Amino acid sequence: MALPTRRHSSARRDLRRTNKKLTASNLSTCPQCHEKKLPHRICPNCGYYAGQEEMKVEI
Ligand SMILES: [Zn+2]
Repeated sequence: MALPTRRHSSARRDLRRTNKKLTASNLSTCPQCHEKKLPHRICPNCGYYAGQEEMKVEI
């Protein structure tokens, strides 16, 4: 199997990683309180999921 002649320098490795993890994770908007929340999860702000209150949120 072909092998690389020389390993990439740490500068070259770091340069490759500069474009990594630039986008934020996907967030959806809660239809109840219009806060940003993770999709398919109960809203941590108001405790609603699919139009029903699933969890009491302490303030
Ligand atoms: Zn909400």
